[in-house]
Amino acid sequence: MYDVIVVGARCAGAPTAMLMARAGYRVLLLEKAHFPKDKLSSHYLHQPGVALLDRWGVLEKLRAAGCTPIDRVSCETAGVRLVGSLLPADGHTTTYAPRRYVLDPILAAAAVEAGAEFREGCTVTGLLQEDGRVTGVKYRTAGGEFTERARLVVGADGMRSTVARHVQAPVIVEHAPMSCTYYSYWEGLNASHWELYERTGRSLGVVPTNDGRTLVMAYFPQAEFRQIRKDAQAAYLEAIRTTSPELSDRLSAARQAERLYGTGEQLNFVRQSAGPGWALVGDAAHHKDSIAARGITDAFRQVQMLTDYIGTDLHDPKALTAACDRYARDLEEKFVEAYHGTLSVAELKVTEEKLAVVRAISPHQELVDRYFGVLSGVCAAEEFYNEELERLVG
Ligand SMILES: Cc1cc2nc3c(=O)[nH]c(=O)nc-3n(C[C@H](O)[C@H](O)[C@H](O)COP(=O)(O)OP(=O)(O)OC[C@H]3O[C@@H](n4cnc5c(N)ncnc54)[C@H](O)[C@@H]3O)c2cc1C
Repeated sequence: MYDVIVVGARCAGAPTAMLMARAGYRVLLLEKAHFPKDKLSSHYLHQPGVALLDRWGVLEKLRAAGCTPIDRVSCETAGVRLVGSLLPADGHTTTYAPRRYVLDPILAAAAVEAGAEFREGCTVTGLLQEDGRVTGVKYRTAGGEFTERARLVVGADGMRSTVARHVQAPVIVEHAPMSCTYYSYWEGLNASHWELYERTGRSLGVVPTNDGRTLVMAYFPQAEFRQIRKDAQAAYLEAIRTTSPELSDRLSAARQAERLYGTGEQLNFVRQSAGPGWALVGDAAHHKDSIAARGITDAFRQVQMLTDYIGTDLHDPKALTAACDRYARDLEEKFVEAYHGTLSVAELKVTEEKLAVVRAISPHQELVDRYFGVLSGVCAAEEFYNEELERLVG
């Protein structure tokens, strides 16, 4: 009998297992893949994510893995260029964009170091349930089918979560996919910070990662996905050329070091994230368009919330239920606003209103920093969209 079984060992599951093990619980971490393994994802961390990595004692390992430090962000919108500093989250003004085959194994190793038992190559196929409460998991390995029991099963198994499916977690908010994206990695591209470029119908992101490679990503409307995937490489280069000719020139002097990766599955939903004997963290709980690069940071925040709320009460059924209820409530309250903010970015519309805001703030560095601070989750929307801004925009 375990205290906690965590299903999925990436950026939501591994830190959950780590923090639960550090709290003294007996933890089993099950992962269907074998690490190190890459995953479809770019990997920009916002400052609150970096602050949590530091709090968990794993930031130094990430720095040592050769990730380029990032301390600025720029955005070009219809010829207006904003350059901002990263506002601090718990004193952190530098961030990173580690490849997932770097980040995820560091987190899984930290879970093991904390005392969690980590089993790879284990696919959870179902849940054990008694009297309406989840009491364990069924899983399959190359060696056969097994079961394990626990007081709490945490689904950190991504947007197509098996745990969410088996508990029939209700979907609280859902929207159709709005964008699709293609990206690749480039060598020899001089990039030192997070660069964004946008025009109606296209958005580009450039971010230095590790091992001297820079991610260059293009977003398109979902409605164009079928057409674009017929020749994604041509559409990708064309999006770059027509959105930022200057970036296109820089790329022609660089080398595309990997194939193109892409997805049209930019699902948008918030699920009920806890119930009797179960909880969901990361994409299993809440998935949104990747354009705001918030998924990993949000997963870290959810993990910290869940483990803080449970604290030392896991063996007390009433207190555990109260902690899980509070987590489910707070997840909905704290993440739904940013979810809608992300959807508005994913519309890929540079409206006259948006342009007026960008033009009005461009001479005011403090406002520019706050503009990017909202994107990073360091500033509340009201700290930017307020009367001061209204006066400036006129
Ligand atoms: C194109 C793209 C770009 C993105 N860019 C960014 C970005 O720049 N910054 C950012 O913060 N976020 C970004 N995201 C989002 C980010 O990738 C996710 O939010 C993040 O991966 C969520 O982590 P997770 O641990 O919840 O789920 P996942 O990373 O999906 O991990 C789930 C794990 O569970 C395992 N698993 C699944 N089912 C089972 C099962 N039945 N049994 C056992 N194991 C199972 C899987 O093998 C996997 O390892 C991007 C996403 C995409 C698609």
